[in-house]
Amino acid sequence: MSETTETGERTTAPDDEAQGRTRYPLQVEGLRKTFGGIVAVDDIAFEVEEGSLTGLIGPNGAGKSTTFNLITGMNDPDAGTVRFNGEDITGRAPHEIANRGLARTFQIARELEEMTVLENMMLAPKNQQGEKLWRSITPGVRDNVRRQEEEVLERVWEVLDFFEIEHLAEEYAGNLSGGQRKLLEMARALLTDPDMLLLDEPFAGVNPTLEKRLLDHIHELRQDGYTFLIVEHDMDLIMNNCERVVVMHQGKILMKGTPAEVKESEDVIEAYLGGEV
Ligand code: ADP
Ligand code: MG
Repeated sequence: MSETTETGERTTAPDDEAQGRTRYPLQVEGLRKTFGGIVAVDDIAFEVEEGSLTGLIGPNGAGKSTTFNLITGMNDPDAGTVRFNGEDITGRAPHEIANRGLARTFQIARELEEMTVLENMMLAPKNQQGEKLWRSITPGVRDNVRRQEEEVLERVWEVLDFFEIEHLAEEYAGNLSGGQRKLLEMARALLTDPDMLLLDEPFAGVNPTLEKRLLDHIHELRQDGYTFLIVEHDMDLIMNNCERVVVMHQGKILMKGTPAEVKESEDVIEAYLGGEV
């Protein structure tokens, strides 16, 4: 991936370039979140390497989902910073963070179950100019809006095709299987054209065949330069697919390392045996 933007602006710190280090699109530092008396996330720090598939694991209640919520702006942290592509995005609104290229999947809400897959997809890109009514009224701009809608539709079909669900376009989202829903959720997230995707338990309720397909898609997207951070309970899946793993326990980072290092860690084994996984 290029080290400079079109305007020649540096996207990598000079020191990093000199030392040939990898870039870290996501950097979390001193992140903390309490709910009443509960410390859900307790001063955590980690970074995610560009183009990697990084796993965030830990027993139930470890603070994984809260960490995702803090990163994506769904929750405001009590302390700490979140940096994305070098920019401090701490406390920004979810749509601002999504617009910067950091996407997450959302479960399909109940009301969207009564819409087709295609309609769900058309709703996904929140950032279209077409949403601003006055633009459609202004002569000359109308063509522009129409062109944009065509581009969105083209991209929608491209993504449906990529996930091999184009044959489900006219199906109601409520009729999809668990696995097909996961594909649709990921397809929707991809429509915002992100650099990085956060997936919270993307394989929950997915049958082995679809799980394999989802994983293939994730690896394929990684080849294209996308970065992934995923929360997943299945240890074997994490160990076989991630190159880095961050382990949380009781709101803290218990360990960071390669799958092999994590697998052999006494601390990790103990945390899992002590927890209710
Ligand atoms: P994980 O995703 O690792 O299972 P969570 O981040 O969901 O863990 O939860 C971490 C802790 O924070 C848990 O003790 C949970 O009960 C608590 N928690 C999470 N969200 C809230 C909330 N909105 N209000 C109160 N407590 C919460
Ligand atoms: Mg969770």
